[in-house]
Amino acid sequence: MSAPLLAVKALKKYFPLRGGFLAKPHAWVKAVDGVSFELQKGEVLGLVGESGCGKTTLVSVLLRLEEPTSGEVLFEGKNIYQLNQKELRELREHLQIVFQDPFWSLNPRLLIRDIVGEPLKVHGNPTTEELAAKVAELLEMVGLPREGVYKYPHEFSGGQRQRIAIARALALKPKFIVLDEPTSSIDVLSQAQILDLLKDIKDKFGLTYILISHDLSVVNYMSDKIAVMYLGKLVEYGTSDEVFNNPAHPYTKALFAAIPDIDTEGIDSLVTLDENVPSAINPPTGCRFHTRCSEATEVCRVKEPELKMVGEGHQVACHFSR
Ligand code: SF4
Repeated sequence: MSAPLLAVKALKKYFPLRGGFLAKPHAWVKAVDGVSFELQKGEVLGLVGESGCGKTTLVSVLLRLEEPTSGEVLFEGKNIYQLNQKELRELREHLQIVFQDPFWSLNPRLLIRDIVGEPLKVHGNPTTEELAAKVAELLEMVGLPREGVYKYPHEFSGGQRQRIAIARALALKPKFIVLDEPTSSIDVLSQAQILDLLKDIKDKFGLTYILISHDLSVVNYMSDKIAVMYLGKLVEYGTSDEVFNNPAHPYTKALFAAIPDIDTEGIDSLVTLDENVPSAINPPTGCRFHTRCSEATEVCRVKEPELKMVGEGHQVACHFSR
C-alpha cells in the first residue's frame, strides 16, 4: 500500500474553560482525545457519532482551522502545522469543505460567478471574462447550466445550491474535501443526486473525502471506511463492510440499531441509547461509554480500553470485543 494521503497521529484538541478573561483554565473540554487513523488517496472515511462527540472539532484541526493541543496531522507526508508560507498556500488549495446548509453558505447578494470564483480570485488574478468562463466550466462539471454564472443563489433550488457549493469546493482542484452533512438540508430526491454527483467527481478527479453524517444510510452508501467517535475518542474503526456487517462496539451497535433500514448481521438484540450523554469536560473514568453501556462490568469503570484489532483492518476499543 502506498503512503497515505492523510495520516492523523495521537491527535488531541482540548479547549480551556476559564472563570474570566485572564484567569487560568479551571477545566478542559477534551473535544478530541488521542485520535489516530490513515486515509489513502481516493478513499472515503465516514465519521459518525452523536452531536458533541468531537467530529466537527476533529475536521477543524485537519483543515487547519484549529491548532491541535498535541499530535500530528500529515498531509502527503508533511506535518500541516510545520509548513512555510508557500507550502501553506498550496495546502489551502488542496483542502476544501462543503457545508451542510447551501442556504447560508452562499452569499445571497453575490452572483454565482463571484461565489464560485472567489477561491480563484484569492489564489490568482483572473480577468472578469476568465473568471466567468472558468465558473461556467465548474457549473457544467456539477450538472448545472453555464448561464447560471450570472444568476443569484435564490434563483436555484436547494439541490442546485448544493451543486454550486460543490463547484466552489472544486475550483482550486483540491485533493481532499470534508463533506459536512452534505445532504441533510435538501429534499430526498436531490439527496440521491448529490451523493451520486459526489461519487462521480471523486472517481473522475481522484478525490479523497471525509464525510460527516448523522444519516448512516448515507455513510454506508458513500464510505470505504468508518470511524465511530464517542466523547472525543475513536471507539471503532474499519472498512465499511466490516463495521456495518460486524459492528463490535456496543456504542456502534446502538447507533446502528436505531436505523431500521440498515441490515446488519452483528446486531442480534435491540440495543438502545439513553439520551444522557456525559460531558466532555469531565468524561467518565475507564471506558467513557460505561455509563450508558448495558454490557459494562467493574473493569469498564476503572480501565480505559485501547483500540485493538478484531478483524482485518477493524479496530475496536472495548474490553470484551473479539
Ligand atoms: Fe461497554 Fe465495557 Fe466495552 Fe466500554 S469496555 S463498551 S463499558 S463493555
